[in-house]
Amino acid sequence: MSDTPQVLLGHHLKALKLPTFLREHDKLARQCASEGVNHTAYLLRLAELELLDRERRMVERRIREARFPAVKSLDSFDFAAIASLNKMLVLELARGAYVEQRENVIALGPSGTGKTHLALGLGLAACQKGLTVGFVTAAALVHELLEARDERRLLRLHKQLTGYKLLIVDELGYVPLSNAGAELLFEVFSRRYERGSILVTSNLPFEEWTSVFGSERLTGALLDRLTHHVHILEMNGESYRLKASQRRQGKPEIPTNAN
Ligand code: ADP
Ligand code: MG
Repeated sequence: MSDTPQVLLGHHLKALKLPTFLREHDKLARQCASEGVNHTAYLLRLAELELLDRERRMVERRIREARFPAVKSLDSFDFAAIASLNKMLVLELARGAYVEQRENVIALGPSGTGKTHLALGLGLAACQKGLTVGFVTAAALVHELLEARDERRLLRLHKQLTGYKLLIVDELGYVPLSNAGAELLFEVFSRRYERGSILVTSNLPFEEWTSVFGSERLTGALLDRLTHHVHILEMNGESYRLKASQRRQGKPEIPTNAN
């Protein structure tokens, strides 16, 4: 059969997991023939296409696996809207070195100041650097932990959570935790200490974290670990949501009384 080599090649390229070779080799061969490009240069072009595609697929997989509630980038973040935020620090963090160095990030500020947007942007940037990221709200994480404990698969969940290079815990502080919840969350933070980065967002200043965790001892131990190697992003300002809706309705903006 005249098409046997084609069929075999298709099989081999699939077995070698070279989908871009499979898709492009024929078209590129014809193109290279018409341009008089030799075999080595042809193979090089094909290999480059495969590499580019592989990187794109890897980033897409990281983004899927991170389970972001929305994909938002720092490109759409208006730094001018939040004067207290250190833009240079954010851009530096977007390069991802803090993740390699297992440092933490804490974004603090009232509701609507862009903490989640920033966390999503930094998470996306980490994915683009090829780092594994997990995104979860504190409430959902505690819920998952309690469920895993009841179903006797806590260890497996802890393994999964320590597997991420960057764990993003959004909205710590909105809901006070039960004793069991606080202890389970503490264990997540404690297991990651100096082993992997955590990015936490919270509407509460550190002094008020005890009200979330219930115990002063636990909060102290947690803050001690979390803040040992940390970058703090101060996001004090008025709500971006509120400002945007006032702008839409043509109302004057409420004067800021940010602290
Ligand atoms: P927070 O998590 O602090 O409550 P969000 O990140 O959810 O705030 O921000 C609320 C909304 O306003 C989101 O849609 C977000 O994308 C947008 N937003 C907030 N701050 C900015 C900003 N500086 N630039 C662009 N969009 C912003
Ligand atoms: Mg938020």
